[in-house]
This record gives sequence, C-alpha cells and structure tokens, in this order.
Amino acid sequence: LFARECEFKWGAAAQGDLPPQGLPEVAFAGRSNVGKSSLVNALTGRKTLARTSHTPGRTQQLNFFDLGDRLSLVDMPGYGYAKESKEKVAAWNDFVRSYLKGRVTLRRCCLLIDSRHGLKPIDLEVMAMLDNAAVVYQLVLTKTDKLTRQALNHVHAATAGALKKHPAAHPEVLFTSSETGQGVPELRASLAALANP
Ligand code: GDP
Repeated sequence: LFARECEFKWGAAAQGDLPPQGLPEVAFAGRSNVGKSSLVNALTGRKTLARTSHTPGRTQQLNFFDLGDRLSLVDMPGYGYAKESKEKVAAWNDFVRSYLKGRVTLRRCCLLIDSRHGLKPIDLEVMAMLDNAAVVYQLVLTKTDKLTRQALNHVHAATAGALKKHPAAHPEVLFTSSETGQGVPELRASLAALANP
C-alpha cells in the first residue's frame, strides 16, 4: 500500500469544501507539535508533506492525500495552539465535528499523543468528540525514542487505563518514533487492513 505514490488531492477549510466521499479515509489528529507531519512522512516515505507546526493558525485545513485508489490519508491541523482566538477555535471545532459525524468513508482516526506528555485535557476533549461522532480512533504515542523503557511503560499504562472509559477507542495503543522507525510497520499494517483491496 505505502509503496505507491502519496498524492495531495484536496484541502478543505470549511464544510462546503469537503471532497466527495470515495476512498476509505484515515484521519490523523493531535496537538500542535505532536510529530504528526513527521509520522505521516515516515509512513508514506513522502518528504514534502506540509508542516503545519511552523505556521500555527495558517494552514487550518483538512488535507487529503491519496494512496492510489486504495486509501485516503486526512491530515487534520494540530489543535491546542494557545494563541488562537476563541472564535476561531469554535468555528474550527464546528467544522471538524461536522466532518467527523458526516463522513461515512472515515474508517479510523489516529490520535497522536506525545509520549513525553501523555494525555492532556484537550486530548480528552477530542476523544469525547470522537466518541460522540462514533468514529473509531486509535491512540498512537509519538517520539518514543525520547523516553526510557520504564517511562514508556508508565505512559502506556496511563493511556491504556484512560481508554477503558472510551468504548469507541481501539484497544491497542501504538508506540511510534519517526526518528527510529519504531512502530511504523505496525501502523502501516493496521492502516492497510482498512484500505480498498
Ligand atoms: P506536527 O506539528 O505535529 O506536524 O509535528 P512535526 O512533525 O513538525 O514535529 C514537531 C517536532 O518534533 C519537530 O522538531 C520534529 O523534528 C520533532 N519530532 C517529530 N517526530 C519525532 C520523533 O519521532 N522523535 C524525535 N526525537 N523528534 C521528533
């Protein structure tokens, strides 16, 4: 699946801009700076994916990338950027909520969590939004190369524990590092299972 070209297809900044539903979709979400661009680049081998972290508030759109005719990857803008106005955050939340609720082709959301920080209140808010929209989501710990084995066990136990209260969540928490490639094959395999044959 990931051997093929990953092609930018569409950017949507409001509900009216969404592309027609077609391929199965997997969305990637997480706090700003969680390592989302790096992980998506590691997954696809693509080096040119827009890096939102360096221009917070500017690239506020859902970006759709197609892997041939099998799967669409949806890059969601990082949330939790402190300097955003309340109005902008509210408008953005409305758009994201409507996308999540109305998208029949959305198979899963990968919710990225920085393994150094664990689940923050804003992550729990996003999980509640996903529960409410009945979107299956999977927690993916990022930057695991920065932690000791013991610290990773600790964050894993805490995240897995929090998941018990969230029935829409996939029970497995993945460990990943874009730096070392840890967990990248496992994440690819779990996404391949959601793609068109
Ligand atoms: P985004 O804002 O979520 O798209 O995050 P980026 O992918 O731009 O990464 C944010 C910062 O974290 C950058 O300085 C990256 O080099 C760094 N980073 C991302 N992934 C990893 C990782 O797996 N390991 C380490 N050590 N640093 C990472």
